[in-house]
Amino acid sequence: MQQETVKFTENDLAKYPFLKETAVYMKKLGLDIEELTSPELGQILFRAQDRLEQAILFVSTGQKGRNDIEIPSFPVAIMLAIATKNSFIKKRYALAEAKGAYLDFQAEPAERLMAIAQDFDWNIAVNSESGIPLDYFSVSFSDYLRNVTHLREAKWKLVNRLFTNGRVFLSQHDVARLLQEEVQRRIETRLDAKEVPQFPQPIMDIAEKMTELAKEKIGESEMEGFPKEVSQSAFPPCIEVLYDAASHGRHLGHVGRFTLTSFLVTIGMPPEKVAEVFKTSSDYNARLTRYQVEHIAGSRGSGTRYTPPSCSTLQTHGVCTGSDVLCRRIRHPLRYYLIKHGQTKPESQLQK
Ligand code: SF4
Repeated sequence: MQQETVKFTENDLAKYPFLKETAVYMKKLGLDIEELTSPELGQILFRAQDRLEQAILFVSTGQKGRNDIEIPSFPVAIMLAIATKNSFIKKRYALAEAKGAYLDFQAEPAERLMAIAQDFDWNIAVNSESGIPLDYFSVSFSDYLRNVTHLREAKWKLVNRLFTNGRVFLSQHDVARLLQEEVQRRIETRLDAKEVPQFPQPIMDIAEKMTELAKEKIGESEMEGFPKEVSQSAFPPCIEVLYDAASHGRHLGHVGRFTLTSFLVTIGMPPEKVAEVFKTSSDYNARLTRYQVEHIAGSRGSGTRYTPPSCSTLQTHGVCTGSDVLCRRIRHPLRYYLIKHGQTKPESQLQK
């Protein structure tokens, strides 16, 4: 099928503000960051804040508004997320935008969906002779492979796909799902600013509010109460054993791996540092490990942030090793960590 050139409209950019075309729109708009708090532009800042709030609370981007507010509110929301310097907020926002786009992708006509895919440099074609909705699109093997890395369902395995001459055949629903991965990655890349510019004070004030909101969402017990710096000397014996094994490339069972990861994430170690702990493992896969860590940290999937199991659960699974005198006073490894720092916390705040 000969593809007609699709030109993105303002409606498209309002739905998909992560498209490259948005940069052209923004350039024409000539938005000055210092003017964002003026009454004329205040609505853009307000909607940008709303995007982040909805993402933090509900993994959503909220109610869409007028195009002239909706489109610029996206780069402003990116700026706000960067200003928070908070990895939970950044991951959550990228996920919310990607999930929202996925819903809209499923209702797009084929030509527009292909134009969106081409914005991500996909080699995509319509298989008009197929007549079967399940095989209506075909994409290059590399585009397919790049986007199924984190998808665990059996249907994404290549053996379960029609695959011929280097092309994988997909339904519209499948294309939408793989594009969701692309969108999330593109936004995460934008949020991964190495240097954070000096933002005006009103922007920093909103960023602070967003950080507070994130703290409430994921629970004070998980963002506060723990020392700012991770202190290995306060690790409980079981975690010390797991940490030592992981950092020396020794294999950990599922429970051990989950316990170590959720413990480190909860006490405030950034997900990228947690992933590095597993780096010397013989079956180490950087992307997969990062994905698993982020899943446990709540910045992927359902948004649930996991805490480690209680001591009794760890005893059942044989993960409680080397318990010491302090272990007799606690029922949870996080409690051990807190007490070693001379802090206390009601046992009820910890997940059993
Ligand atoms: S008693 Fe609890 S904290 Fe102590 S080693 Fe066992 S599982 Fe870890």
